[in-house]
Amino acid sequence: MSNSLSQEPEFDSQLLGNVKVVLCQTSHPGNIGAAARAMKTMGLTYLVLVNPKEYPSHEASVRSSGALDVLDSAVVVDTIEEALADCRLIIGTSSRNRALPWPLIEPREMGEIIRQQTDARPVAIVFGRESTGLLNEELQLCHYHVNIPANPEYMSLNLAAAVQLIAYEVRLASKIESSQNVNTEQGYSDAPADDLDKESEQLASFEEVNGLYNHLESTMKQTEFYNPEQPKLLPARIRRVLAKAHLNKGEVNILRGFLSSMDKYIKRQIKGQ
Ligand code: SAH
Repeated sequence: MSNSLSQEPEFDSQLLGNVKVVLCQTSHPGNIGAAARAMKTMGLTYLVLVNPKEYPSHEASVRSSGALDVLDSAVVVDTIEEALADCRLIIGTSSRNRALPWPLIEPREMGEIIRQQTDARPVAIVFGRESTGLLNEELQLCHYHVNIPANPEYMSLNLAAAVQLIAYEVRLASKIESSQNVNTEQGYSDAPADDLDKESEQLASFEEVNGLYNHLESTMKQTEFYNPEQPKLLPARIRRVLAKAHLNKGEVNILRGFLSSMDKYIKRQIKGQ
């Protein structure tokens, strides 16, 4: 940073540039603008809007103040799956505990995870609707549930306030300690370069893990282990297993290969009947 004083901390722009803020079905355009402003103050620029109620909007632009650039480059998509497709680490934010608990962390732990897991980028941080928050099905697409500790009698922050707080933690996590040996071209990593080159060792993207989930569901239907008429908690439990496993590409391929062999086996059995 050429224009910063030597005693000012430096921030890892590679980390900051790899964090997507995903807002699901935001109702009030003013909140989108305020979220863009909150992001920009912390050095985040990558905003994704899933099916916003009203956007583009004059109110969003007004509330963004000087962060029109973040709004202008925002990507609008129809589904959360599109927003997450290339992400390797997905964090869902919610003030509410869920009937089926998800791996729960606090914002500071979230920052630490994002800082340490350099192979888990891009990262998505997902925010819910003003009225109803994140749906269970949306949280179940995430690796972690991050909860901002708040007054137990009044836990729900305004959407843009929640974005501000979470973005602040990302910024703190991106601070480069003077003792850190950082290669700004590639980010920092403890893994030997050879390992990073191996594609199968790379963490799987959301699209790959979701493909595995869909395959599992389809095979489980064929074997009648899973009855879609009475799903109960099975889909969510399987999603949670996958979230906890942090699978790499090679592992996804093995499991898909096994499922394909099962599918073929089932077909042969049906033919032979
Ligand atoms: N009434 C909604 C809350 C919506 S607040 C509900 O019951 O879930 C809008 C969004 O801000 C939430 O979906 C979440 O993404 C974020 N948020 C608000 N308060 C939060 C908290 N205490 N911890 C984590 N995220 C929070």
